[in-house]
Amino acid sequence: MFAVSWGDEHEGAETRVDGADFGARIAGSDVCELGALFVELDAERRRVEARLAVVIGEVDRRGLYAVDGHATVKGWCRASAKWSTTEAVSSLRVARLMHASAEVADAALSGAIGVSQLRLLARAFANPRCGTQLVDVITLLLEHAQQLSFDDFALVMRRWEMLADTDGAHRDAEAVHRDRHASMSEHDGVFDVHAQGGVAQGVTIHEVFQRYVDAEFATDWAETVALHGAAACAALMPRTPAQRRYDAFHKIFLDAVSTPAGTQAPDPVVNIITTLDVIEDAIRASAGDGGDGGSADASGRPRQNHDPRWWRAETINGVPVSPQDILAAALIGHIRRVVVDSAGVIIDLGRKRRLFTGSQRDAVLMGSSRCIWPGCDQPSGRCQADHINEWQHDGVTNIANAAPLCPRHNRWKARGYNVARDAHGYWHTVRPDGTELG
Ligand SMILES: [Zn+2]
Repeated sequence: MFAVSWGDEHEGAETRVDGADFGARIAGSDVCELGALFVELDAERRRVEARLAVVIGEVDRRGLYAVDGHATVKGWCRASAKWSTTEAVSSLRVARLMHASAEVADAALSGAIGVSQLRLLARAFANPRCGTQLVDVITLLLEHAQQLSFDDFALVMRRWEMLADTDGAHRDAEAVHRDRHASMSEHDGVFDVHAQGGVAQGVTIHEVFQRYVDAEFATDWAETVALHGAAACAALMPRTPAQRRYDAFHKIFLDAVSTPAGTQAPDPVVNIITTLDVIEDAIRASAGDGGDGGSADASGRPRQNHDPRWWRAETINGVPVSPQDILAAALIGHIRRVVVDSAGVIIDLGRKRRLFTGSQRDAVLMGSSRCIWPGCDQPSGRCQADHINEWQHDGVTNIANAAPLCPRHNRWKARGYNVARDAHGYWHTVRPDGTELG
């Protein structure tokens, strides 16, 4: 731990530090001091954000905004501190959640959870169909808000909202699918393609598209390495990522016309991950159950696993798929059962090999939607199944000894970093000097 004192800890007008003075102070600081300062300032920002929400909540509940003729507390915020409406709405939601849950209020006021995480929780709480259920799982969600990366926490919140609000998610998915459309047009020498539709078809389209984009990347990279050798880097590649995506799109159409008529094209493999109770809910909902859709189990559902972190209904890269879409996919596609334990660790398939391949590799990558290195956002579909305990150090090749790491972090890990998963399923990355990263 690094402790840095920046003075000015007393409160009042004189805490205003001159910009140039502050700039001069930090100019001489090393990365440890700046890191400690960053964390310290963020903690202060969290506490300030929570206190602002408390003030706004108080003004809202007591109707005090009506002074000066404001119709809502939002108008009062806009007038008092020139806030945007978005800012006022977001803070008001936080205020309502903090008022409904003492646990959230404590965590927010002590600076334990991030500003963005608090806003996500508050937005879910504001959902009129399922928001009040949030309080039932708030202890777990607060823990995840502190332990998981923001992206992973956002994914947990999307899962929770989709599965708690089965009716809403189903209606949304149906409406989007019904309104699907695609168009191609040419205007003033610009060719434009626009398409929009549901996730069920979208994941297949995306999977095919991604394969083509990867192939274009491989072509560019091979060319760059041939030309520049060890100096090859992304900046020297002949096309930009955007250009490669367009060329990949074009190539899909070329391949389509070059396929002989009547040929059965292989189905792309799309991995959708879900838990058994999600499928069971979807079956009950589609069977009618009195015609009220999924609402029979929308509140107080007896889920086998009460932690929303393990409620999964998504593609391998974390794109949420509604339970009804999963059911449809299960009827026309193949299902592969992957067994996980109570901490979400996929259980060993039993066979030991030198390399993670085939279903074992897939199972490792399905364990997380992203590279597990703190701060990394590479989707697990682009990761490698890496040995936690290196193979040359007697690490066995089974799923419990594996983590999805992107190629970059796979190489970083070899510098003496240690990656481990604790009993609760949280990943930890430890530096060579024994301190923890992130
Ligand atoms: Zn990574």
